[in-house]
Amino acid sequence: MSNTPSLENYWMPFTANRQFKAAPRLLASAKGMYYTDVDGGQVLDGTAGLWCVNAGHGREKIADAVARQLITMDYAPSFQMGHPLAFDFAEKLAAHAPGGKKAGLTKVFFTGSGSESVDTALKIAIAYQRAIGQGTRTRVIGRERGYHGVGFGGISVGGLVNNRRVFPLLPGTDHIRHTHDPVRNSFVKGLPEHGADLADDLERLVALHGAETIAAVIVEPVAGSTGVLLPPKGYLERLRALSQKHGILLIFDEVITGFGRLGTPFAVDYFGVVPDLVTTAKGLTNGAVPMGAVFASETIYGALMHGPESQIELFHGYTYSGHPVACAAGLATLEVYQEEGLLTRAAAMADHWQDAIHSLKGLPGIVDIRTIGLVAGIELASRPDAVGARGYDVFTDCFKNGLLVRVTGDIVALSPPLIIEKEQIDTIVSMLGDAIKKAA
Ligand code: PMP
Repeated sequence: MSNTPSLENYWMPFTANRQFKAAPRLLASAKGMYYTDVDGGQVLDGTAGLWCVNAGHGREKIADAVARQLITMDYAPSFQMGHPLAFDFAEKLAAHAPGGKKAGLTKVFFTGSGSESVDTALKIAIAYQRAIGQGTRTRVIGRERGYHGVGFGGISVGGLVNNRRVFPLLPGTDHIRHTHDPVRNSFVKGLPEHGADLADDLERLVALHGAETIAAVIVEPVAGSTGVLLPPKGYLERLRALSQKHGILLIFDEVITGFGRLGTPFAVDYFGVVPDLVTTAKGLTNGAVPMGAVFASETIYGALMHGPESQIELFHGYTYSGHPVACAAGLATLEVYQEEGLLTRAAAMADHWQDAIHSLKGLPGIVDIRTIGLVAGIELASRPDAVGARGYDVFTDCFKNGLLVRVTGDIVALSPPLIIEKEQIDTIVSMLGDAIKKAA
């Protein structure tokens, strides 16, 4: 294999073929907190891959489970039949469902990715409304600057105009205002104040469209991919109250926040707000095998499975729903999380993490720093277009020096594996500080 890849045949995601000034760096192997590139250089993983490798790389328990399952049974259909691992995994996930057993989000639907989880949740929401005699409720509301993957459902409810521009969308989608206020958020450790008024924007959409047209509202409890936007205090509570008042289902997209990222198993546990549906993926299998899952309330499940208009309304399921190898990976991942207390470890590291990240305050070009759990968003001042994004320079410099960060435009996002040690946090912050200074 060549160390300088040709882009002749491989059409990379995220239009990367256009973005790369030089050939992309190639990663060859990974263990614990580190990748090794094809030239033998070590790269500290500041982003847990793409927010997914929560238990760190190369976990043997997961690898063994996957290898064993591949030999035992590589594939089994999940239509009208099944295999024990899917039932076992669903039962274990239900026992650790967002909000605990009392929240009642115990019905688990398996998908193959975050985007599929989002599509699944949207379809379940609309089908549920119909099943309870609310067939006019087909509209789904998202939030500006929300990210929900790249399926047609996800881009329609997603709040990134650029992602929606050239495609036909799910009819009737609309977006509540986003939570990000650079002035109020600046250098805040923890959550900004005054969230309820922002959530009131849902009232505007209810007045505009009529509650009887709205099936569901979907939000990330903490927006990740679009730049780590924290919900102000009271925001999610008010969203829950308003959606309930108007008969609208509330969907939390926990593809990023799920499985320990905030220091609790799910954001539902962190904020104490219980939605009707929760989407997950990424950390579900520690990123080792593609898989997603939707947690649905018992009420929704009951109406769809046993109500007067039952299954016929909801033909839904994927070839890889409940894939045996993915279930094996997921079961092993859950065991690792439990054995090592990883679903709450971010809480123990959060003070050190947040103090270290906030020590960057005052460096030239930083306009905002946001932290929660083991997540950070560092917003840099934009340069004039011709000069190119400051974020890209920071990414390039960090990578050259052995640190993987994620940048979207001028926001640098960090979300390291939950096994990170304090010295590694200090290394990340030191390398990042140098790169930010150079990009000034
Ligand atoms: N929802 C959220 C909140 C995400 O962050 C992502 C991926 N970053 C997705 C959905 C889509 O997941 P996938 O890329 O696995 O389809």
